[in-house]
Amino acid sequence: MNFEVSRKRMVAELVKRGITDQRVLGAMQSIPRHIFVEEAMSAQAYSDSSLPIGEKQTISQPYTVAKMTEMLKLTGRERVLELGTGSGYQAAVLATLADKVCTVERIRPLALKARRALDSLRLLNVNLKIGDGTEGWPEEGPFDAILVTAGSPQVPQCLIDQLAPGGRLVIPVGDRQDQTLTLVVKDLEGKVTRQESEDCRFVKLIGRHGWSDEA
Ligand code: SAM
Repeated sequence: MNFEVSRKRMVAELVKRGITDQRVLGAMQSIPRHIFVEEAMSAQAYSDSSLPIGEKQTISQPYTVAKMTEMLKLTGRERVLELGTGSGYQAAVLATLADKVCTVERIRPLALKARRALDSLRLLNVNLKIGDGTEGWPEEGPFDAILVTAGSPQVPQCLIDQLAPGGRLVIPVGDRQDQTLTLVVKDLEGKVTRQESEDCRFVKLIGRHGWSDEA
């Protein structure tokens, strides 16, 4: 299997679907998505689809990863918080585009696997914690960008509080099945605005400021 060629095809597909940020496309060309999925699934790693990663969770589809990352407008200097580490793939993409990434996963076996995959790529600017990401990570904030990769019933206020002036937060907001990608921007004076973008489907954000159960 030539993963390099498959990755090029995946990136060409992202361009066709409207992703234009060259830094995002470059990051997705460089990160080997196949090491973030089970070996038995590596042949499907570059198709534009989400895949199971165990514990009833999924690695998001490449288009969604690219779209959400593009919405953050990263330049390389940012401190980023990701909630929902899952496989670690999105964290790896963010780590190549920002200065520092803090990522939180509530399911221990997934977090440990993600840590191993990130270490194998020597991504030393990723700090990973096991816990309830709906609380954010106040000790590490404020953050220039926050990315939530699970569906939430609302935008948790504590995440807005942990956003630095000029910061951007992207979060899927909706019901248990369907959500809308939502961009929250805090301007330099601290004024917060909110803009809805496309529809999406994520597994649930479960925690104090998310959904309260797995039902
Ligand atoms: N970003 C991931 C990747 O690149 O593979 C995909 C994330 S997956 C769609 C959603 C993840 O969010 C799951 O691993 C789930 O366990 C996690 N999650 C759900 N609620 C959470 C919470 N309150 N805190 C941290 N992680 C949470």
